[in-house]
This record gives sequence, structure tokens and C-alpha cells, in this order.
Amino acid sequence: MFSSPSQWRSFKLALGCGSGLIMGVYSLILVNLIDRDYLTNNNGLTAIKGQQEKDCQFSAFESSNHSPKLGLHIHPSAQLNNHLLSNPSLNLQHCLKGVTSPIDSNNTKPIIISPTTFPELWKAAKNANQALAKPFPYIHESARAAKVPIFMYHDILPKKEVFFDVTPEELERHFKYIQKQGLTPISLDLLLEHLQKGIPLPDKPILLSFDDGYGGHYEHVYPLLKKYNYPAVFSVYVKKMEGKTARSSLTWEQLQQLAKDPLITIASHTITHPRDLRELSDDDLFQEVMMSKEILEERLGIPIKYFTYPEGKHDARVKRWAMAAGYKMALSMSNEEEIFVGESPDLLSIGRFGQSQLQVVSPEAWGGYPGEHLEGDFDFTANITKREHNIDGVELIIINGGKPSTIHANSRYQVPEIMANTEAVAAVDGAFFSLKYLDSNVMIGPVMSQGGEFVPGNASENPRLNGRPLVLMGDKGVKFVPFDADNHNSWSGVVAESDDGELITDAFVGAAWLVKDSLAQPYESFGNLFDFQVPRHRAFWGIHRSGQPMIGVSKNPVDSIKLGQVLEQLGFREAVMLDSGASTSLAYQGESLVGYIPRPVPHVVVLLPSVSSLLENTGDFSQ
Ligand SMILES: [Zn+2]
Repeated sequence: MFSSPSQWRSFKLALGCGSGLIMGVYSLILVNLIDRDYLTNNNGLTAIKGQQEKDCQFSAFESSNHSPKLGLHIHPSAQLNNHLLSNPSLNLQHCLKGVTSPIDSNNTKPIIISPTTFPELWKAAKNANQALAKPFPYIHESARAAKVPIFMYHDILPKKEVFFDVTPEELERHFKYIQKQGLTPISLDLLLEHLQKGIPLPDKPILLSFDDGYGGHYEHVYPLLKKYNYPAVFSVYVKKMEGKTARSSLTWEQLQQLAKDPLITIASHTITHPRDLRELSDDDLFQEVMMSKEILEERLGIPIKYFTYPEGKHDARVKRWAMAAGYKMALSMSNEEEIFVGESPDLLSIGRFGQSQLQVVSPEAWGGYPGEHLEGDFDFTANITKREHNIDGVELIIINGGKPSTIHANSRYQVPEIMANTEAVAAVDGAFFSLKYLDSNVMIGPVMSQGGEFVPGNASENPRLNGRPLVLMGDKGVKFVPFDADNHNSWSGVVAESDDGELITDAFVGAAWLVKDSLAQPYESFGNLFDFQVPRHRAFWGIHRSGQPMIGVSKNPVDSIKLGQVLEQLGFREAVMLDSGASTSLAYQGESLVGYIPRPVPHVVVLLPSVSSLLENTGDFSQ
């Protein structure tokens, strides 16, 4: 054990582990090695590290500022060769095994490090080892297609002092613009989920960020954010709250209040706001990057998950520190090249735009689509979101996510009426129905909804539907098979189409395939379908290549062939046309999304909230 400060101060392990890539690693654990007197005799952070730069080097840090802790890190300048990097489980054990005589200041007292003599140290080394093996957190391929601009504001004050200052009136004009354009300010948490998992964002997403913790952020920005219900991120540096800078500052009390508001995300922006983190020593980076997180967490009582590089300046070493500190994402900026989030290299180098670009780049904002679903054929776990497109003049509203199902009502109603008092978040008018009576719920072809009664359809009409898509929905998947009146006129005939006896809960016959096996369907495939080649409002539903269900309508009249081509472009794997013309109707969260009063219908395809999103809503706040 270390018995004196001098011994501790000089504790080091400097070992030859080969050379090669320069990698930084860190692992912070509590180690009961420290002399408490020593801690209390020192203010702030003390870094104790080896005097010589060698390949593998451990350093010890402790802080007496807040809950004295001893941390251990493997020095970010430690060099580890490729062989060791590719064998992470051996890596630090290898280093440690070489340690027989870490030395005290006088080089006289060897200390043996082994799993038995210093188990915590050994464990820390292994943890650090695992951190080392990780690449920078990557951006999901599907999120790269999205276009999310983050806008960066600095001071907001009534009288401008420098060109990037913004007055409260200007800021409100920006917010009005955001509202008028239908842009959706999102939180950093939502952005992170999108970037990690490829989950698409709400329509026209943007993100508002305010740097440096000015007093105006509380006085002018916060009330506006509440008024418009816009989330935003405030990047603050610790010294700012001490009010020792030229301009006005947030106080700790104000920041604490902001931290409690779910609209607000607080990001660490270091302790002292150094102009260029790349020029800092590792010891200083430890302070600025890691300790700022710890201090903010302690003062604000919330997890600080995000970091913002002062003036955007960073490199691989700085990023390694941000990663080691446990930040999930780090915001950058560059005057030379302003980029959308999806164009950033990884989660620790997220690009931003200056606020003056708001009206220039916002029109491009797009929440993106998820890519190929890798874990299985279907994904019924995504959040339900709405988006609008204009592709080749075809205007579409599409709602994706959740789990698909159908409702067969007892009469004909407006779509929002059918959804009312159900769990459905969104619904589109469904299959063809008999127009004979206004209150009839008789469908053309067989139908079954949510495991209810199977209605076989009219035996004399059914043969005319041959070859149209019979849609079968189960709990875990969906199947589209060509309808065959001879086989599909009984429940047993329908069940025979299911894979491995999977439970089929919903069945109906769609009008036509618009996209089949990821290919838009040609003119010939529509056969005798009424008016398929004529521009009409059209309703559709299908499975995207992400595995997610999607329902939608065209806002302007479009023919079936063109609609299929556009849906293929959007990545639909299968898309089936539902009813069209006067019945075309789409509703989201109880509201109709079409600008006319459609013909009432007896059948809808709905999206139900996924089980996982239900859990999320009840999940606990801390993580
Ligand atoms: Zn700054």
C-alpha cells in the first residue's frame, strides 16, 4: 500500500509494450489506495504520472474538489502496437505482467502489481483495455441520408456587440420562421437515438444550440423556448458560472433551473474554455474534458452526456478523451465547412451551422429513412412518425413505425372516427368495399381483423380479384401473396399461407402491388384494375426495406405506376395500393391529414404503438 504522499506521487508504471499506434484509454474507478490526509491537503486536481514517456503508462489522478476520488488511467499517449490492439483481452495483462517493480520517488521500493496484490488496479486495467479496443462511436448508415442542421447561437442581448450576437427580437423572428416553415426542433437525446440506431426523425428536424452560458440565455432564450415549446442545448463551461468573464453569465442557480426542464439539455463546454483543446497536455485535457463533466453532474444533479469543443477544435486525441469521459456525442463547428449532422465523421465530431444559416439550410432539413433492417425481416418496434415528401412532383404523406394491424368497422365512418378509442396512432383507408349501402361494412374479397371473425367474401365476386395482393398480418411479420379465389375462400386456405404456422390476425385483399420485391410494378401488372393509369388521390401501405410498416397517401393526384416508382425510390420493399379516389384518407393522432372530406369507409390499416415505445414512455428518467 502507499503510505506517504511522496510514494504516491511517484507511483507509476512505465513499461515497454512495443510501439505503434498512439491510442488513449481511460478507466476511472474508485481505488482504496489513497491516503485521505494527502487528499485534504491538496486543492483541486493533482495528476501524478510517470516521469518518462514509455509505451504503457499508468497515471493516477485524484480530486479533492468534489467527493475525493482516485482515478486510474492508462495514459492517452501510451503507445500500443497493432498486435496488442487486435488482442484487447491480452493487451493490458501483457503490460501488467511485465510490471515487477513500479518504483517510488527514490527508486527503492518496488511494488508488485498482480491480480492478487492490487485487484482493483488489475480490474481497472482490464476495463481500460476494453475501452481502448473500441472505435469512435459511429453514425448509423441509415442516419447518414437524413439532413439535420444544428444551429449555433452565442450571446443573445438587446444591443449587439459583435456580428454573431443576436437580439431577442431577432431570435423570436427565427422562432417564428421555424414555426411557419413547419420545422421541428429536436432534442440532443432524440438526435443521438437517430444517429445510433438509424431511427428516422420527425419531419424537417433541426436542433438549436446556445454556446458559452451567457446571462441572455436565461433571460431571453429560455422564455422563448418555453413559449414555442422548442428543445435546445446549452453548452456551458464551469468558470462562466463564476461570473469572471467580460460578458454576462448564467448563475449556478439559473443553470440548475434550466437543468430541471426536459426541454433543455446541458452540455459540458470544458472548465476554462481553452481556445484550442488540441494544444493541451493530457493532464489539462483530463481537467477540461473529464472533470468538467463531473463538476456539472455534481452541481446540477443530472447526467451530462454531451460535450461541445470550444471553437470546434479537436483531433483524434481530444476525441479519445471525450470518449473516455463517457460522452455519448460531441458537438463541433468549423467556419470553413459547415455540415449537416449526417455528414459528420462520427458521433464525437458533430458538425454545426452558424445561426445566420437558418433560412439558407433549413429548407433542406429532412428526418431521413432507416436503412435495411439487419436483424430480421420486420421491425415493429420503431416509434411512429409522420413525414412529407415531394418527389418528382408527387406529394406524399407517409407515417412509419409501430406495428401494422387493421380495423373492420361495423359500418362506414371517417377514418379518425374509426381510430377513436383504439390504440391506433395512425390509420389509412383500407381495402375495397361494397358501395351499395351507405352503412354497409361489406368488403370486396375475404377479410379478417385483429383475430376476429373471418369473412370469406362474395363467392361470385372473388374470382375477379385473382392475382391481387392478399395481405396477411401476424404478430411478427407480414406476407403478401397473390390472391386465389379457390384457395383463399376459407380460413384454412388462408392459414395454409402462413410460415411455420405463425398466427395470422389480419387478412384482406389489396387493390394492386405498387412495389413488389423492391421493384416498382409495370403497367401490365395492373390488369383490369379500374382507373389505375389515371391520376387520382391514392392510399397505400407496405413494408419499407427497414422492415418497418408504412402507410400513406398522395396529396395530389398520381397514377399507380408513377406512385410505385416513387415508393420504390423511398425504399419500399413491398407496397400495396389500397382504395383510391374519393375514399383516400389518412389520419394521425386522431386528426385527418387530407384537405377534403373523404368518403366514409368501413376498413382501415392502422399503426399501433410498438411494445418497446410503450415501455419507453413509462421508463425512468435517469440513465
Ligand atoms: Zn464556446
